Amino acid sequence: MKVGFIGLGAMGAPMAERVVKAGFATFTTFHQRREPADALAAMGATVLASPAQVARAADTIITILPADAELKDTVFGAGGLREGFSSGKVLIDMTTATALTLQEIAFALTPMGVRVLDAPVSGGTTAAANGTLTIMVGGDAALLEECRPLLESMGSRIIHAGPLGQGKVVKIVNQMMAALNLLAIGEAFAFGIRSGASADTLYSVIKESSGYSKMMDLRLPGFLLAGSFQPGFKLDLMKKDVNLALDSARAQGIPLLLTATASQVFAAASMAGKGSADFSAAAQFLADLAGVQLSRPEAAERATGPVGR
Ligand code: NAD
Repeated sequence: MKVGFIGLGAMGAPMAERVVKAGFATFTTFHQRREPADALAAMGATVLASPAQVARAADTIITILPADAELKDTVFGAGGLREGFSSGKVLIDMTTATALTLQEIAFALTPMGVRVLDAPVSGGTTAAANGTLTIMVGGDAALLEECRPLLESMGSRIIHAGPLGQGKVVKIVNQMMAALNLLAIGEAFAFGIRSGASADTLYSVIKESSGYSKMMDLRLPGFLLAGSFQPGFKLDLMKKDVNLALDSARAQGIPLLLTATASQVFAAASMAGKGSADFSAAAQFLADLAGVQLSRPEAAERATGPVGR
């Protein structure tokens, strides 16, 4: 199987590296920055001038791009994949995008004989580097089996979620839960700290109680309690994912009251200059409304100088 890989960003670059190292002949291209493509070429990949050329050279083309607009541009734009596709090719899109966009892409490509899977991922950049991503696959189950060895080079949990678009649906539900859990930690901890509790007491008690979420382990010790917001997963990407949920829901008339509020919090935090910080900065942004630092006092002092409570 000759593999095309498009979108060598924070996730795509380590995923593509694993594909090359697994022994697949790999073709890529570049966008804005050439360095990630050159780094992949140094491992044995071939760099071509456009997505169209990648679609001609490879049998199965993986895309992992920021969101719907970039994905559509890569498929339908000038020099895009559609120009190079022909019957028998496979597109595996791993972007966190809407199901609707995947269905539009499949609607355009299926008559050409191109088969499409949607396969978004969770696990972040560490799992991308280790090949331990969770991959949620929507589309034909037999096509998934054909592509499984390729997917196994990137992920350790590969789940068939249903027909095309269902991978995106499951991924967006996860992102909604992650965003809401994170903001709940920000608001509730701010209330607790303002009322006299310590963040460490709250964490250790709630870890064993009904208010617990995995987000506490993922974002309290290394980020919020440490006052450190190196991404991780950028706040603007989480803002995008929450808005994907709202867009998808609006198209179906589904109300999303809490997610709509979350979208406003992420928008405000982004406008306040936190878009490139880790998304956990949105929880501190909420806590700021109550005048509360969520970080341990010594961490807050390290980050900003002495802070009053
Ligand atoms: P990124 O911004 O680091 O990378 C995106 C890549 O796409 C970049 O290399 C960029 O140059 C390229 N690109 C952008 N527009 C393009 C275009 N028009 N044509 C060709 N290439 C283009 O983003 P990322 O963190 O790698 O995330 C990619 C996807 O994976 C997103 O949908 C994100 O939500 C999802 N995701 C990210 C994480 C994470 O922890 N970063 C985890 C799970 C899922």
